Amino acid sequence: MSVALPPIPFTKPYLAGDELSYLTEAFSGPAVVGDGPYTARANELITKITGGLGSLLTTSCTHALEMTALLLDLEPGDEVIMPSFTFVSTANAYALRGAIPVFVDIRPDTLNLDEAQLEAAITDRTKAVVVVHYGGVACAMDEISAIARKHGIAVIEDNAHGFGGSYDGRPLGSLGLMATQSWHGTKNIYCGEGGSLVVNDADLLARAEVIREKGTNRSQFFRGQVDKYRWVDIGSSYLPADPLAAFLTAQLERFDEIQAPRLAAWDRYDEALRDWAAANGVATPGVPAGCVHPAHVYYLVMPSHEQQLGLISHLKGRNITAPFHYVPLHSSPAGERFGRVGPQGCAVTNRVSESLVRLPLFTQLTAEEQARVIDGVLSYPL
Ligand SMILES: *Cc1c(COP(=O)(O)O)cnc(C)c1O
Repeated sequence: MSVALPPIPFTKPYLAGDELSYLTEAFSGPAVVGDGPYTARANELITKITGGLGSLLTTSCTHALEMTALLLDLEPGDEVIMPSFTFVSTANAYALRGAIPVFVDIRPDTLNLDEAQLEAAITDRTKAVVVVHYGGVACAMDEISAIARKHGIAVIEDNAHGFGGSYDGRPLGSLGLMATQSWHGTKNIYCGEGGSLVVNDADLLARAEVIREKGTNRSQFFRGQVDKYRWVDIGSSYLPADPLAAFLTAQLERFDEIQAPRLAAWDRYDEALRDWAAANGVATPGVPAGCVHPAHVYYLVMPSHEQQLGLISHLKGRNITAPFHYVPLHSSPAGERFGRVGPQGCAVTNRVSESLVRLPLFTQLTAEEQARVIDGVLSYPL
């Protein structure tokens, strides 16, 4: 009887070192609510890394997306173009305002929104296009921005995967009118649940501050710009407690150190699997020239659904967790109810979601663990 190998999880949150002391310090001081000194520090670091105009820390990327919907003044019946191959929140944030998510297919090489299908999906109700930099590999932003400009629609970056990445030397998060980040426990850096809204327009940034603070001008009040704070707009409570920002600050300060092993692990997968994949009809991540990604995902697109399930179970037999995603939004119950499919359908999305497998990728992944994963993949009988 063989001894069971220790499990290799798909992801594992990494502590860089100062998180718990910052957290304790923040909870021990007077600034336990939102927008204390750590929130300011975190926003400064996020602004620097994204190259954006300003960052507002939020309770999640989902909430940052909801803020973009409020800032765009969406009305029922307005349309927002997005990929179907993404997390629920990308669409739900707009459906909440009564807007209609219009699902456009993805490119087979990057799994990003296919810019060649964007223009045909635009109607006179289209207000925005939301791009998702899948795995942190940038969408074709020059083409997408040019089409959006021509039609007068906003570009929003769902940058949950892309923090730290860049496109032709420009950081992801600085390329759209607004960009949303996630600090969820499964992302490259985290504070449990959290996010941030990067806004690249001064007027919108001022309004975003109000929306984030229950529709009040409380932030201006604290800066001494008004003598009392009042209800001035619609809004909600999208600000995290300062101790969570303290935890995140410790991660942001060590971002490069957290990223280095992750980037190296991504490269090792690619080196070890690329030739095998090409010879066996398996697709690996495409990274167009000019795209620098933060190694959020390493994936394989298997030749069939049967082989997707086969590889997942083969790896499971070796105590390795390798999940798939995303269940397409356009064919999900809520997607069918609230959204619609663009004129060119979602054939690539359907195929990829039924054949993609993600491999374990996290900062503490050891060389031995990774060798086991690679061995597991290469031993799968295709
Ligand atoms: C993780 C993720 C979100 C949601 O982030 P939360 O911080 O959990 O709300 C949204 N979009 C994409 C593409 C994601 O990967």
